[in-house]
Amino acid sequence: MPRRPAAALATSGEVLRLIRTGEAVTRADIGRVTGLSRPAVSLRVTELLDRRLVVEDSDGPSTGGRPPTRLVFNASGGVVLVGSLGASKAQIAVCDLGGGELARADLAIDVEEGPDVVLPLVMRTWGELLGDRPVSQIRGVGLGVPATVEFAAGRTESARIMANWTGVAIPPIIMSRFPAPVFLDNDVNVIAIGEHRTVYAGQADDLLFIKVSTRIGSGIIAGGEILRGALGAAGEIGHIPVRDGGGVLCRCGNVDCVDSVASGTAILRDLRARGHQVRTLADVVSLVRAGDAETMTVVRNAARMLGEVVATAVNLLNPAVVVLGGDVAETFQPLLAGVREVVHRRSTALSTRNLRIERSRLGPGAGIVGCAHMVLDHILSPEAVDAS
Ligand SMILES: [Zn+2]
Repeated sequence: MPRRPAAALATSGEVLRLIRTGEAVTRADIGRVTGLSRPAVSLRVTELLDRRLVVEDSDGPSTGGRPPTRLVFNASGGVVLVGSLGASKAQIAVCDLGGGELARADLAIDVEEGPDVVLPLVMRTWGELLGDRPVSQIRGVGLGVPATVEFAAGRTESARIMANWTGVAIPPIIMSRFPAPVFLDNDVNVIAIGEHRTVYAGQADDLLFIKVSTRIGSGIIAGGEILRGALGAAGEIGHIPVRDGGGVLCRCGNVDCVDSVASGTAILRDLRARGHQVRTLADVVSLVRAGDAETMTVVRNAARMLGEVVATAVNLLNPAVVVLGGDVAETFQPLLAGVREVVHRRSTALSTRNLRIERSRLGPGAGIVGCAHMVLDHILSPEAVDAS
């Protein structure tokens, strides 16, 4: 989060930020950092205590005499409802205000059944996971979906997948049952946030996450923030064309998009064309493990084309780390090696000098973690705390 200069008139939201980040954790510290008078500090701290966003911790280190009371962010002061929808699976959870998972359910869904079927199921599951907790404890809701999202409007926009969700404004539907701010984002953006805030916390504020699964998509963290672009369409790496793709028509209408030549779907199609009886990606994994020469050729070819596009993205964005996730990237070792090789050959010397290209370590649950952080970043920002 960008650092704000301490203003003479620091608000309650700003004081909460100082406590959460550990920059100032006693009333005296807050006074020193903000320049607020003692009564003004007291007023803001009392408000935060009343709202259960902060608690007093009197077990601070004793230095002889009465130690000043430490103020601690209260992760138990509310909950957020989060969900990560895939084409056929959904993870639904209730998290605390620190992003910790309190309860979770994994569901089988068919996202193509549309919002009229899927959203009631998701909301019913949240209701069950909440148990005895009152609805008043809910401070925010976040949902990741496998489609491009017009972020501010909370609407999906997609050519084929989730066609019956297109144009549906999801937040009002959820808010009618759970009255709290609702945030909707693309599933890959949400995972990128999860990687940045957990695995790479404090290490990398410029991160490119690429999901290689049935499809190829990416989420960009630039300067510590997710880059959504003007409307939410940033990161559509899947529809950047490659050279020598063979003239494959992509579902977007263009030719030789990396999604149409290097995704899991493309790998399956190429293997079938060569006479292999592969039904799912798991079958391809078996062939890779067995060292099947033709399969290795197809996977290496996919890696070369993916690497080409990643090299372009690295030149454009200069990330500190490129994380490859999704079931294809996580199980096909040759893919990672191939991408590394091409990127180091084709990106500029400075952009690759300290570049790390790694496999995702967050694994399943990444969407849940990322969704929780997406919501918390919004609802705990000084502006949001002051407005509510
Ligand atoms: Zn395309």
